[in-house]
Amino acid sequence: MTPAELHASAVVWDAHSCVPLHPDFDLGALERHRRAGASFVSINIGMDMNPLDQILPVIASFREQIGRRADLFLFTATAEGVLRAKREGKLAVAFDLEGGVPLRGRPEMVRLFRDLGVHQIHLAYNRNNELAGGCYDEDVPLTASGRRIVEEIYRAGVLMDLSHTGHRTSLEIMAMGLGPVVFSHANPRAIRDDRRNLTEVQIEACARTGGVICVTGVGRFLADPEARTPAILDCIDHYVARAGIAHVGISLDYEYPGGGLRDLPEGVDRAYWWPPEEGYRGGISGIRLATPEQLPEITGGLLARGYGAEEVRRILGGNMLDLVRRIRG
Ligand SMILES: [Zn+2]
Repeated sequence: MTPAELHASAVVWDAHSCVPLHPDFDLGALERHRRAGASFVSINIGMDMNPLDQILPVIASFREQIGRRADLFLFTATAEGVLRAKREGKLAVAFDLEGGVPLRGRPEMVRLFRDLGVHQIHLAYNRNNELAGGCYDEDVPLTASGRRIVEEIYRAGVLMDLSHTGHRTSLEIMAMGLGPVVFSHANPRAIRDDRRNLTEVQIEACARTGGVICVTGVGRFLADPEARTPAILDCIDHYVARAGIAHVGISLDYEYPGGGLRDLPEGVDRAYWWPPEEGYRGGISGIRLATPEQLPEITGGLLARGYGAEEVRRILGGNMLDLVRRIRG
């Protein structure tokens, strides 16, 4: 089997990418993911800095657009749904929420977001909030309110994501023993020292929950700021060595260009969410990102590094498919 044949036949699961958080954004752009062989992509519909009156019109517009383009897309995050999309040559799409502030401290909001298509949630985006610690803040424990939200995330069959979350909070959530967690987009700190990246303790704890860690294609979090494919492969190698082949996945965290759409809320303090003391210069602008077109390169690169075809299938999406099957069927 050639690398191209393997790529075309594998479930390719991008655990997290971004589009402008604006209802006028044309989701037809996601065709780039489909053409690059992706079977599924989770797109962000809000972060802690986005108010509900921004998030809700975005959800409404994106749902409507996905439904209208049924020839290209399928709105699903179940294992069977993703397999069906793949059989039909479509891209499965679902939403994720980056931070628990929009839940307003109400566990029942988890189910509401789930019913709107949000299949994956993490509790804090970079900074501490009323639920949890963020990775660029004081390392605080999970709060009582955060604990209730975590329990509801598992009950609702939503993926418990720990990306962007503080070190202590992430370990406390994993220690609750409620089931597998996912780091939907995070790299090893051993490869790139950044508080957004994961310590060996987090990596091993994630594997113990039966969870999956998905490498991210953000240049800032890789050894190569240009986000070229070998640097992504290095992170995969590290996770396979530390966590085991069954616990590794991929995400791009690609950000589709907005064509002039402004999606940061008025008055947002970029230096608070992306602190200059952590090396950010004017938020996330200027950071190089891996593109959807690099997905086939990841497949080819893994084969070239000696992974077997079944191992490559697991990393590309088989492990995430198994995870969602365990969480929600
Ligand atoms: Zn993120």
